Amino acid sequence: MVFGWIDEQAEQRRRAGLVRTLRPRAADTPLLDLASNDYLGLARHPEVTEGAARAARTWGGGSTGSRLVTGTTELHAELERELAGFCGFEAALVFSSGYAANLAAVTALAPHGCAIVSDAGNHASLIDGCRLARGTTRVAAHRDPEAVRKALDGHDGPAVIVSDTVFSVDGDAAPLRELAEVCREYGAGLVLDDAHGLGVLGDGGRGAPHAAGIAGAEDVVVTVTLSKSLGSQGGAVLGPARVIGHLVNAARTFIFDTGLAPAAAGAALAALRLLRREPGRAARAGRVARELHERLTAAGLEAVRPDAAVVSVRAPSPEQAVRWAADCRAAGLSVGCFRPPSVPDGISRLRLTARADLSGAEIERAVRVIGETRP
Ligand code: PMP
Repeated sequence: MVFGWIDEQAEQRRRAGLVRTLRPRAADTPLLDLASNDYLGLARHPEVTEGAARAARTWGGGSTGSRLVTGTTELHAELERELAGFCGFEAALVFSSGYAANLAAVTALAPHGCAIVSDAGNHASLIDGCRLARGTTRVAAHRDPEAVRKALDGHDGPAVIVSDTVFSVDGDAAPLRELAEVCREYGAGLVLDDAHGLGVLGDGGRGAPHAAGIAGAEDVVVTVTLSKSLGSQGGAVLGPARVIGHLVNAARTFIFDTGLAPAAAGAALAALRLLRREPGRAARAGRVARELHERLTAAGLEAVRPDAAVVSVRAPSPEQAVRWAADCRAAGLSVGCFRPPSVPDGISRLRLTARADLSGAEIERAVRVIGETRP
């Protein structure tokens, strides 16, 4: 049978309790949301939705072409200028997703002969960037600058170190200052994915590289997504103007992809301006995360201490994680459920996001539901 092997795979997945299905979300869901990445609660903020609507009315439903042909509007240029300025970089380039931005940054900055050292906990999009790049990838132990050093020892030629700033599964942070030091020792570039840092870490949400004092350095390139704290959709690469110019000419996911939709650019720009005007939102997300962690721990649950706005709770098995998340849902609480193959260490978890706009009562309710439904 054509594609017969997919049935075998499906059966294996079913036996392991790892089948995934889609569940369309209703616009007016009564669920308390601790599953989305809308860290600052901006996705439905009237200024953000109006930014999207205005951009669509002005520029159209789509960007009409690739960035180098018709897909670059003045709105894209404005967003790039403001995003770079906010995060402390010379220049920025927006992409249709954070995934595409990561593929672009890694592939364009790791040519043939380049050593790529990638953290074992990196997001799938960085891993795929490493797989597509012409350079050779060595995987270094999680959050271990010494392991990175060892991987680079004896290498002659260009090198890049690739890491998430905040890891998406457990919400733990990378040792950015130490990684930057290793980069300088070995003359390597540093490519950081700040998807979970932008809007949450750093002064007013300027991101983890800004907080570490390495934003704007000539050897640092940062990718972000517009789809989490900024409540929109899309991604960007931030860095020195000469690196951004190189991406315009060499990054295939930039050159061959249709430009970011105007509505997404407009929403992201509105969110960025809101964040600049209301810098307290970022710190609030961190406070909610710490409170959530304290209450979960006090309730006897095994939760990882958060460095940003992700709080991860260990589940005994994939099946129990799925049932736990379903029981939470039945009790009115939406939580993320991470299990293999999305988790590098095979440990299943509930993944909670500490939205800045969660009230004390909502945090209390979430912890009570999670505690009462624990396997
Ligand atoms: N990097 C990280 C760390 C992420 O968590 C995600 C989104 N899950 C991405 C990149 C991809 O970003 P986007 O969803 O904008 O494609």
